[in-house]
Amino acid sequence: MPHHSACRISPHRNPANEGVFDVTTQQGTTDLHAMAANLSLPGEAFIDGGFRPAASGKVFENVNPATGAVLNTVAACDAADVDTAVAAGRRAFKEGSWSRVAPEERKAVLIRLAELIRADAEALATMESLDSGKTITDCRNEIGHEVPAFFQWYGELIDKTFGKIAPTDEQTLALILQEPIGVAGVVLPWNFPLLMAAWKVAPALAAGCSVVVKPAEQTPLTALRLAQLALEAGVPAGVLNVVPGFGETAGQAIGRHADIDVVSFTGSTEIGAMFLRYASDSNLKPVGLEMGGKSPFIVLDDAEINEALIENAVMAALWNGGQNCSANMRQYVSAGRKAEYLDKVSARISRLKVGDPLDPETDIGAMVSSEHRDRVMSYIEKGVSEGARLVRGGGGLEGSDGFFVLPTLFDDVTQEMTIAREEIFGPVLGVIPFDTAEAALEMAADSVYGLHASVFTRDIDRALHFARRLPCGTISINSFSEGDIKTPFGGYKRSGSLARDNGTEAMQQYLQAKTVWIARSS
Ligand code: NAD
Ligand code: MN
Repeated sequence: MPHHSACRISPHRNPANEGVFDVTTQQGTTDLHAMAANLSLPGEAFIDGGFRPAASGKVFENVNPATGAVLNTVAACDAADVDTAVAAGRRAFKEGSWSRVAPEERKAVLIRLAELIRADAEALATMESLDSGKTITDCRNEIGHEVPAFFQWYGELIDKTFGKIAPTDEQTLALILQEPIGVAGVVLPWNFPLLMAAWKVAPALAAGCSVVVKPAEQTPLTALRLAQLALEAGVPAGVLNVVPGFGETAGQAIGRHADIDVVSFTGSTEIGAMFLRYASDSNLKPVGLEMGGKSPFIVLDDAEINEALIENAVMAALWNGGQNCSANMRQYVSAGRKAEYLDKVSARISRLKVGDPLDPETDIGAMVSSEHRDRVMSYIEKGVSEGARLVRGGGGLEGSDGFFVLPTLFDDVTQEMTIAREEIFGPVLGVIPFDTAEAALEMAADSVYGLHASVFTRDIDRALHFARRLPCGTISINSFSEGDIKTPFGGYKRSGSLARDNGTEAMQQYLQAKTVWIARSS
């Protein structure tokens, strides 16, 4: 998915992830902190074309993970606000000011939105970094390049997507149309706040749906700003609504709403399962799920353990502080190569800079919250107590009140250990040796998850064998890559439903097929 600048943990560049406009500025840490201090942070819900407080008047505190300080307060929406947002979405959908306009019109608006995001990218990236603890470098790459690329790509797709005509006799014309499904509910995680919003909102809007978004309570800011920019770009009032709030209240209200036609969710497998229950208890809405992972990174004995491979290994595990659903945290290395591998990975990790997310030199920012930091630390303790060998890391950042975890490397991990089976969602990499390629394949496949896998080999036959046999939605050979905007992304097994984000496949989540059977009248 995201591309990375050459100096950070960043082996994989893909032109599809780089925008047409260069939004990178020369601002350094001091300027960024000044910009951060002057940002006006959105704190209200965005419903029916404007900001408003929650109907209950309740707010929650939004914390800066890098300092532990309160950034601002944000409307704590609940079922009443979701109702208002859904009603606005339904009204707009019925009016047809978005759902039924000419494709060229929706296209022009989404392309304008992409341009507005590019123009605002530095402020948005700074806002996202403050809100989430993500590094400014990652925020710039995601928001300056990928997020606008999504709105542009799906915008451009609108007037190039054709329906079908079924073969019939001459008395009949049978058309298969794709129609927007209606009001879409979108429930998001905190690890790539605006990018995950773009992954879902861009195809949903392109399809002609109205959308009600619930960002994660840890990271509500940039989704709120997105709604404002969308209105400015010409998305009619009521079409895109953002209701910040907690999962139990706002999230559940979306899941159970009788007038929401589809839900697209990204988050943990546990909560994804709840959305299936919500749907079966309410209106049987289809539910698209993108969930957890515990993805393997496999280094076969013929692979050359060179700088590029090590760069991939470190990025696959530690990019975004390991808070990535497709992070490759189980690293299987041929036993005879393990000592060399550990030395090189450990040396590369020692050069990573952990700290102020608003410093462009920082590689790893803060964990998103103190609760999440504690959860990651408890996994590290479990790794030690179950007998893995701690090679480096394992602690926090001295002298900081932020929620930092140092990049952590374990050796002598076994397949049965908790740290090899459960998703940690933090910077905790475990190395597991293997004797034969078949044993590596078997261990890699042995997981309830199936999101992603990387395989390193120079042997084309082995590459093909692993690509065919690994049960997961994305496999990258000789790199760590999640593909890009053009390729579908989603999980096998408990990592996902049949729904896919990205590519033309993502549109299917927000469309339904209609058959029109036209016969001669006489
Ligand atoms: P989470 O499941 O706790 O939260 C996700 C969203 O669900 C949030 O908006 C949250 O408020 C909401 N939610 C929480 N409880 C709810 C409830 N009872 N009812 C309705 N909604 C509820 O996950 P998270 O901690 O925010 O994100 C981390 C998880 O997301 C990881 O497991 C990770 O693997 C997964 N993830 C997956 C992908 C993917 O594409 N497959 C991408 C990013 C993250
Ligand atoms: Mn926050």
